[in-house]
Formats: sequence, structure tokens, C-alpha cells
Amino acid sequence: MTAPDIDESDMEDNNKKPNKVNMPRFSLNWMYMIIAMMLLGLYLTNESGSVNKNVSYDEFQKYVREGYVNRVIGYDDNSVEAFIKPGHVKDVFKQDSTKAGRTPMIMTEAPSRENLDNFLQKERDEAHFDGAVNYEKKRDYFSMILWNVLPMVFLIGLWIFFMRRMSGGGGGVGGNVFSVGKSKAQLFEKGGSIKITFKDVAGLAEAKQEVEEIVEFLKEPQKYTDLGGKIPKGALLVGPPGTGKTLLAKAVAGEANVPFFSLAGSDFVEMFVGVGASRVRDLFKQAKEKAPCIVFIDEIDAVGRARGKNPSMGGNDERENTLNQLLTEMDGFGSNSGVIILAATNRVDVLDKALLRAGRFDRQIHVDLPDLNERKEVFGVHLRPIKIDNSVDIDLLSRQTPGFSGADIANVCNEAALIAARHGKKFVEKQDFLDAVDRIIGGLEKKSKITTEAERRAIALHEAGHASLSWVLEHANPLIKVTIVPRGRALGAAWYLPEERQITTREQMLDEMCATLGGRAAEDLFLDRISTGAMNDLERVTKQAYGMIAYLGMSEKLPNLCYYNNEEYSFNKPYSEKTAELIDREVQDMINRQYERAKEILSDHRKEHNELAQLLIDKEVIYAEDVERIFGKRPWASRSEEIMESEKNRKANTGQAENLKP
Ligand code: ADP
Ligand code: ZN
Repeated sequence: MTAPDIDESDMEDNNKKPNKVNMPRFSLNWMYMIIAMMLLGLYLTNESGSVNKNVSYDEFQKYVREGYVNRVIGYDDNSVEAFIKPGHVKDVFKQDSTKAGRTPMIMTEAPSRENLDNFLQKERDEAHFDGAVNYEKKRDYFSMILWNVLPMVFLIGLWIFFMRRMSGGGGGVGGNVFSVGKSKAQLFEKGGSIKITFKDVAGLAEAKQEVEEIVEFLKEPQKYTDLGGKIPKGALLVGPPGTGKTLLAKAVAGEANVPFFSLAGSDFVEMFVGVGASRVRDLFKQAKEKAPCIVFIDEIDAVGRARGKNPSMGGNDERENTLNQLLTEMDGFGSNSGVIILAATNRVDVLDKALLRAGRFDRQIHVDLPDLNERKEVFGVHLRPIKIDNSVDIDLLSRQTPGFSGADIANVCNEAALIAARHGKKFVEKQDFLDAVDRIIGGLEKKSKITTEAERRAIALHEAGHASLSWVLEHANPLIKVTIVPRGRALGAAWYLPEERQITTREQMLDEMCATLGGRAAEDLFLDRISTGAMNDLERVTKQAYGMIAYLGMSEKLPNLCYYNNEEYSFNKPYSEKTAELIDREVQDMINRQYERAKEILSDHRKEHNELAQLLIDKEVIYAEDVERIFGKRPWASRSEEIMESEKNRKANTGQAENLKP
């Protein structure tokens, strides 16, 4: 009755019928099962391993008379057990004593206790029997088994319980002990209950445009494959939480009408070694069966963090195995198999570079916090199901909620409805929404995403400083878009259209430096206090100035000298202490001069700058055309057409975001 037997016969069975569909996979779980069964089997069989047989009372008497018996136990129900001397096992059982076990035994039924007593006494007197005689109460086999097995059952139960707990709280497929290695992806079938389309995703115009292509791929793959094109395997949605990354992925599935698998990166992680990798394998297997489909992995940084550089540090091997498996699977499936992986993260910087390589997540789609107009759209979406009266002003609400994510806004709408219901109103009114906003700000402030009015003004002045200077200075990169919507840890950002150039002149570098200092200069001039917001700017300027002076030979006092040293670890500077001092002084000089220049230019354009800042406060995001309206056409308009063109597409992807550290 031991488990290995069962399993063997099972496998034989399968060998005979290799095509049997439900062939049990030999996995780790089966091993656990077999081990448990073997233990149980051993436990139950270790006592009763010896031979025994039932005999008649006459036979029993005969064996005693022959002197085969060395001990007798009589029970209160008159049943008798007699143990056979090892030397006589062969006579009784017709088999070798070595195979008979330690306690070969015969069992019989005595007519009565006196009878047995008298018989044994007689045999003892006649020296046929010299063993002990014990009288015992009949053992209750049922309760004995119960007592033996119950603790076992209890332990196994406990074990199952913990397995379930560890694999994420029971319930559903994922909760079973035997599916630890199964992926925990949630599957939304096409045509299922959840039908989300792009209409449900407000704002995010750029991101939508980019995923549009994926929808096309999924709808009509052959249109692309016929031309020899390769369908992308994955895209990374990058942005803070609650900005609608999951929503967007679902909408892609909804638009293309394909199944949607959803899971979080942390779902792969388990305390058992090998489980993560096995889950990845399972996920891809399931996905391929359902192709074309979308797999969405939320918070991929849970598995996708850069692998440890130093193997001796150990690191998290299990996570690395999982990541490796993910990479292998992504390489493994043909690019035209119709499985597209969308992953979301807030931290691209910590992701393993291998994940971002071509053929994996080579597309990054930015999903940022909504600006004023986008917030209006989000309100539009979430106010749809809510009964509002006409005092509600979406415009005002959007203005009241800078820094809110889509999820926060959804929350505001819901909270407002709850507040109205609590007051027994028929419709949700303006005041309910304002109360809801207050309540949610209270919750959000801890997360310090919300900016106060004064802060917003400071950020606007700062960003307008950059924008003004880059517009006025001839060689600075012209601006495409400026926003004061917080992005990640930056409080504001500006995008520029960098000129494609192989060499950069000194004038260009100085103009850029001046524009970069424009943020701090504007704070200094118009706010009379400077802030931490410019740290990033200053860092860049300082590095650039050092580069210009020490490496590019662009300074007046140290012309044509390059102290560039390409050895990684060198502790000696290739110049004297005196030169070091000179370099420092030159750097300070250069930066000071540009700073003064920035302030000068800004004072000359004070009016325009303030107008621009006010526009930023009002609209949160402004484009080149707004700057042009205020400042007039750029005098060196060589590239302004180009800017307008690119700005029309609002494809601000070439520019680099400029950070303002809080
Ligand atoms: P993420 O995955 O980026 O953390 P989700 O997609 O889970 O965010 O968004 C959570 C909820 O917030 C959504 O279910 C939706 O109700 C709301 N939401 C977020 N962004 C938007 C948006 N752009 N348009 C409409 N609703 C949004
Ligand atoms: Zn700045």
C-alpha cells in the first residue's frame, strides 16, 4: 500500500499510453507527496512486519504441546496470541525464520479463560511450555489506529495550511499545495465581464498613441508579418502608481479583444527555491495556449531589479533565477506567437539592463501624472456614473487637484458620492467634492506628492526661468514643453529639442549653462530666496564647467590643455596643486559669469518671464507656441519651424527631462 507502488504502476500505465493527455507531471509536488506516503507506510508497517496466522484451538494446543511456543497472551474476549520460538518458525509457517520477522505469532480463540489456564498449567507441568502467560484487555484496533494516524493527519493538515498561507492565502487555483509552481496570473477572457477600452482611459494621449500600434498588431498580425515585420514582444509602462498603467494595459486587451493575464511581479516570489522560475514557465505556457493575448506584469521591479554584480555577495538567488527564467522565456517564444508582455514599473533605473534590451522590453511608454487638462478628462470619465447636480464645476475641481493621479481622482469622485449619501442627498454637490478633495489631500500629504500654492509658484518661476533663457539665448536648445506637474522625484520638468551636432562650440556650451542656471537666477531675482530645487541644475553646470576647463581647454587661463585621465583608479592628478587651484577658480569664474548673465537677461525680460510663469501656474504645461506668443518669434528662427512641427505631434521624446530635486 505504499505510495511508490502506486506511482510506479501509474508510470507504467503512461508508458503504455504515451498520448494520454492527463499524464501527471513529475514535479516537486509529487516528490513531496511520495515522501509523505512513504513515511506513513513505514510508520504503519513497522510493527506488523512479522508473520502471523490464525489457527484453530486444537492446532494451538498441538503447537504448545510440541514446545514451539514461548509466550502466550490471553485476552478478555478469549482470543489468544502465541509467539513462536524462532527455531520452530519453519515448522509452523513453512518458511525461513529469517523472513518471518521478529515476532512470528499465531492467533486463536480459546473456549474460555479457565480452559486456557488449565491447559497451559498442564503443559507447564509436563515441561512442554515454559514461557510467560499474560492476560490483557483486548486492544481496540480502531482506536489504536486512530491514535497512530491522527497526529500524522494533523501534521499533514498543518503543513498544507502553511503551504496555502505562503502561496498567498488559499482560495482559487493558486491556493493549492500542488500548484505552488503554477503562475498566479489572473485571466480575463475576451468578451468577459470586464470590457475596458481606450474610452475609459482619460488623457495619456501619447501613451495611447504608442500602444495603439500594439492593438493593431494583435488585431491583424499577418498584416505585419507578411511584410516581414516583427511584432514587439513587450513594452514597459513607466510611471508613478495610480496613473492608469494597469488600466491602459487592460484597455489594450479590450480594444484588441484578446485575453488578458494580469499579475504582479511579487507573485513570482516565494520562499521556495525554484518556484518563481517555475511560475514564469507556467505563465508563458498558459499565455501561449491563449495567444494572441496580453500578459501584464505589474511592479516588475520586484523581480526585475538589476542582478548583483558581485557573485560572492550571494544576493537573492531565487529572484535572480526568476529573472533569468523571465529573460529566457521572452527570448524563447517566437516574436510572432502573438503574446505581448506589458510590464509596469515606477523605477526603470533599478531594472536589470538585460530586461531593457532589444527583443524584450525595448519600448518604454511614459505614463505620467495628469496635468490640468488631463485631470479634467479623468474627472469626466469618473463623473459619468455619478449623479451630480449642476453646481459641480469640473474646471474648478481639476484646478484644486494638482499632483493628483488618476486613481486619486477616481477616489475623490467615489468619496464625494459617499459624503453626499451620508448627508442623505439626492445628488452629489460641489461642496461634497471639495470635502472629498480635502479629505484625500489629508491622506496624500504624507506622501508629499501634493504641492502647495506657494511651492507651485516657486516651481513655475524656476521653470519659466529656464524657458525664457532658452528662448532668448541664440545657442541654447529651444524648448518644446515645460510642465510643473511633478514627475517622479522631480518637481517640474522641461523638454528641449537638442540640436544634432557632432561638435559643440564654446558659445553653445556657455549658452546652455546660462539657461540651466536660469532656474536658480529666476528664484533669486523674483522670489528673493533660493531653494533646494536647483540642485540638479547646479550639479550639471558644475560638471560641465569642469569638463570645459580641465578637459576641453576652453578656459582663458588654461587654454588648450586636456587633463583627461582614462585610468579608472588613479589617485594622482596629472597636474600640480597650483593648477588644481587655478582650475577651481576658473570654474567658479565661469559659472559666476553665466549666472550674472542669466540674471541680467531675465531682468531685461522681466515682464515676459512673469507672464510665462503665470501661464504655467494656470495651465501647468506650456508648449513652444505659448512661449512664442509671449516672447515673439525667435530672432534666429532657423529651427523654429522644426520646433513647431515637432510640437504639433507632441512627441516630446527626444528632449531630456530636466530635474528639479525637491
Ligand atoms: P497603476 O497601474 O498605474 O498603478 P491603475 O491602472 O491601477 O494604476 O489605476 C487605478 C485606477 O485609477 C483605475 O482603475 C482608474 O479607475 C483610475 N485611473 C487611473 N488613471 C486613469 C486615467 N488616465 N483615466 C481614467 N481612470 C484612471
Ligand atoms: Zn531647473
